[in-house]
Amino acid sequence: MLYAFRWKQEGWVKVGWGKHVMQRASDGWWESSHPTMLCGKLAPPYCALIGLWECKDEAEEKALHEQFNEGVLKRADCHNQFYAEMEWPKIYRELCTWFTPLPLPAEDYPPVAHERTRKACCGGRTYWCKHCGTTFDKSWNWIRQVRTVHKRQRTK
Ligand SMILES: [Zn+2]
Ligand SMILES: [Zn+2]
Repeated sequence: MLYAFRWKQEGWVKVGWGKHVMQRASDGWWESSHPTMLCGKLAPPYCALIGLWECKDEAEEKALHEQFNEGVLKRADCHNQFYAEMEWPKIYRELCTWFTPLPLPAEDYPPVAHERTRKACCGGRTYWCKHCGTTFDKSWNWIRQVRTVHKRQRTK
C-alpha cells in the first residue's frame, strides 16, 4: 500500500510504498536521502501517518513520484520521496484520484525490527578511504572503492 507520513513541525511529507507500514515507520527511513531539517528524525514520534491507499505494486508508486517530480525519478536534491508540505494538498488530491484510500490502523508503532544504517548526517559512522580521503556512509561502498578504484595501485 501507499503511505504518507508528515513531519508536522518541520513541514515535510514522505510518500512511499510498503507492505507493513507501521513496522516500516518504526524501523525508520535512515537510509533515505532526506532534507537536512529531518536529520535524526526519520522515525516516529517525529512523524505521523496521515494517509494510506491501496496499491499492490511498487512500480505504480515509482510512476507516481516521477509524475510529482515533473518526470524525473531522481530529483537533483535526491530527496525524491520527501515533499514540502505546501505541495501536499495537490499530491493528496492525486493520490485520492488514482488510489482507494484505506482507514488508518489503530495499532501502535511496533518495536524496531531491523536496524537501518544511519547516514553520517544522522549520527551514523563514516568510513574513510586512506588512499584518497573520500568518506562513505556505507561500509560496502567504502570496500568497493578500495577494491575497484585503488586495486591497481595496491598491486603495483
Ligand atoms: Zn541526516
Ligand atoms: Zn579512495
